[in-house]
Amino acid sequence: MPQYIPEPFRIKMVEPIHLIDKAARQRALKEAGYNVFGLRSEDVYIDLMTDSGTGAMSQEQWAAMMTGDEAYAGSRSFFRLKAAMDDIFGFKHFVPTHQGRAAENILCAVLLKPGQSVPSNMHFDTTEGNIRARGGIPSNLVAQIAYDPQAETDFKGNMDLEALEAWINQTGVENIPFGMITITNNAGGGQPVSMANLKAVSKLYRKYKIPFFIDACRYAENAYFIKLREPGYADKTPLEIAQEMFSLADGATMSAKKDGMVNMGGFLALNDAALFERVKAELILREGFPTYGGLSGRDLDALATGLYEALREDYLAYRLSQSEYLCGRLREAGVPIVEPAGAHAIYLNAAELLPHLSREELPGQALSISLYLEGGIRAVELGTVAFGLLEDGKWTFPALELVRMALPRRTYTQSHLDYVADVLAGIKDKAAQIKGVKMIHAPELLRHFTAQFELA
Ligand SMILES: *Cc1c(COP(=O)(O)O)cnc(C)c1O
Repeated sequence: MPQYIPEPFRIKMVEPIHLIDKAARQRALKEAGYNVFGLRSEDVYIDLMTDSGTGAMSQEQWAAMMTGDEAYAGSRSFFRLKAAMDDIFGFKHFVPTHQGRAAENILCAVLLKPGQSVPSNMHFDTTEGNIRARGGIPSNLVAQIAYDPQAETDFKGNMDLEALEAWINQTGVENIPFGMITITNNAGGGQPVSMANLKAVSKLYRKYKIPFFIDACRYAENAYFIKLREPGYADKTPLEIAQEMFSLADGATMSAKKDGMVNMGGFLALNDAALFERVKAELILREGFPTYGGLSGRDLDALATGLYEALREDYLAYRLSQSEYLCGRLREAGVPIVEPAGAHAIYLNAAELLPHLSREELPGQALSISLYLEGGIRAVELGTVAFGLLEDGKWTFPALELVRMALPRRTYTQSHLDYVADVLAGIKDKAAQIKGVKMIHAPELLRHFTAQFELA
């Protein structure tokens, strides 16, 4: 039996959820054009669409919100957040933003010129979008093993160091305004990056004088993976590990909707004073005054508290055991998943689960439809619909055909995960009966959010 560490909290406030009957689920799906993004959350029983901004705040966070100082400039809330930022991240300057992509937008606005390239292990889609929106070119240089869904290794988010140095020489430093790394690597299955890799990446960027920014969304989960897996870190606290990680960089962007443990928020942090002046000017134009960014004072207080809660060892042990537990149950049921388990999400290998469907029949989309139809579970297709290229009615398929089940923080319990595993075991048993799907309407950009489908 897979292990499950009991939730390190008890429930004080409840949000009812309902499983509407199958006929109602069928109607809801049809109305949504067989795209789970079109469902009302009211009609969803277990919502695993994303771990972004969907977690539960603690009593301490709610209490902190009551102390929020809504002054336009210089609020107490800002200085409480600043104290947490200085302690954990240690950069000289930072600005709050309304979410992660706003921080990316500002970073690109102040550093990136058209035609320039930005390397990372793998850019998240909003980062990629912000780089492209300024005429830049995002480059993914994660070690090749990340592309093999069965290969198990401790730090599958690591950058390929040789490839990075070769790429820098080929691209030319003058064409690289800054370099990044995403921890954990969301686009690559939420896989962690080791401290050794972070150090080596930092050394390379410094050798070539390329400013180094960490996409820090899941910094606490990454720190805990280092503690568990990397020699020399077992006795360090997640806070100490986080401090060491960020000491290697020149700045960071973050969506606080992840390990900030809040429903909305983000920041851009950096050391360079001259650059910070330009960041502030950009922030004032787009987000707000530098001591509140895009947020209310009370949001800053919730974040100041949440940044520490994400680093608590009892929380992190439970968080990682949740995904490990669900993966264990799925392995037992023979449901194919991407290995090893990341912390924030489980990726189902839809092509392998539904081998009778061709890629044209969109097995990922078919599986996300089945999950809702059979169990009221919402998960996201990350396969052909999300990443495939469609030209003149012909698809070019991405390497993998996945469905992502993300785990909101402190939100669902072991029995919810058991329910999800049972529904998936049932889907596997009658996989051969699951029909393919046809896309009948698709927007030009970010297709998977609004495309419409019909059942074959
Ligand atoms: C969520 C996320 C972002 C973007 O943050 P938003 O708050 O959604 O704008 C950037 N990078 C990574 C790795 C993310 O997971």
